[in-house]
Amino acid sequence: MERYPKMHLHFGRVWGIETIHAVAKKIAKEQVTFWLPYQNRYTDYVPVPYITEELAAEAKKYGSLGVWMLTRESELREVEELGADIVETNGALKYEMRKGVWADMHVHTDHSHDAFFSMEKMLQGGIDKGIKVMAIADHCDVTRCENDPNWDIYTHIKEACEEVEQLNEQFGEQCLLLKSVELGDGIWYPEQSGKVATQLPYDVIVGATHAVRCEAAEAIPIKEKWYSKIDFMELTDEQFHDFMHNYFDDMLTMVETQNIDIMAHILCATCYYLYRYGIYKDVRPYEKQIEKVLKAIIRKGIAMEMDNQLFEQKDGEYPYYWIVEKYYELGGYLITLSTDAHDPKTVGKNYENRIRMLKETGYTHMLYYKDRKAVPCSL
Ligand SMILES: [Zn+2]
Ligand SMILES: [Zn+2]
Repeated sequence: MERYPKMHLHFGRVWGIETIHAVAKKIAKEQVTFWLPYQNRYTDYVPVPYITEELAAEAKKYGSLGVWMLTRESELREVEELGADIVETNGALKYEMRKGVWADMHVHTDHSHDAFFSMEKMLQGGIDKGIKVMAIADHCDVTRCENDPNWDIYTHIKEACEEVEQLNEQFGEQCLLLKSVELGDGIWYPEQSGKVATQLPYDVIVGATHAVRCEAAEAIPIKEKWYSKIDFMELTDEQFHDFMHNYFDDMLTMVETQNIDIMAHILCATCYYLYRYGIYKDVRPYEKQIEKVLKAIIRKGIAMEMDNQLFEQKDGEYPYYWIVEKYYELGGYLITLSTDAHDPKTVGKNYENRIRMLKETGYTHMLYYKDRKAVPCSL
């Protein structure tokens, strides 16, 4: 570990709780998976102890839990109960993909500063459109905590997640709500963003770039540094270019450093431009930077969000869809669909068309996340 400090270790020789403790003293929880054998005829030769509730719980305390060698559904259910993060099978257990489940992985409610509809209304909007899974990703823009210890960036997300649990009891069968957060601009305050990301048992964390470190934003007070506050018409061409360049740079830093599962709206900044001024901004000049961001999410196993902007139509064409195709060409396959809806009518918008285009590109499934693990659903 001294030689490769960032490497993940798969540890298979767990002789008991003492082994787990000894490994835990040397390796961080995020960097180790403890593999325990499940007792059946495929593992009857192993010298180490088989998985028990106690061993599984201890392994989970200090790392991830791997279990081998599973051959039956009943075994899988059993180790799922024990909290297995990863399993090995002999090939007899077939992976089952959920079919035709539409998930909207980025929706806001009145727990966000810029959304005014209740969670129940948003949920109803989703149910009306045939959405079966919906992530409640209310805003948590970390820049808001600057210089003001009383500005609480944690409680509203906690309350949203509690409401998700309540509504799931009532409506979960019709549409499953997921506990989420749209973690904005965590790169400005890594400590606080780390705290937000770990304070709750989220199903999924969506990472966003809403504020850009650039000249055009210098005069804006930090708590409202979002680019929605910039009057783009006032910018010179150089200032605009500087803004866009830094926008993708900050996004790359977010992807590299933040604890997130999905990268939100890659073109959010151009979307503001479009909605406010009715002008399409060509983003091809930033193709190289966009490619860097796409390569980074592929490397980090972060999903790409196919949001409304990537599907924005102009004269019957989709000027930004090439980014989705580029992601595919580069080998990206983790794709989520979202609307970033702030009102119930927008939830699940344009799903038929988007799914058609994704299939034409070569995609076979979209994802949702439960307990921060991807669940693929065939398109
Ligand atoms: Zn956003
Ligand atoms: Zn959003």
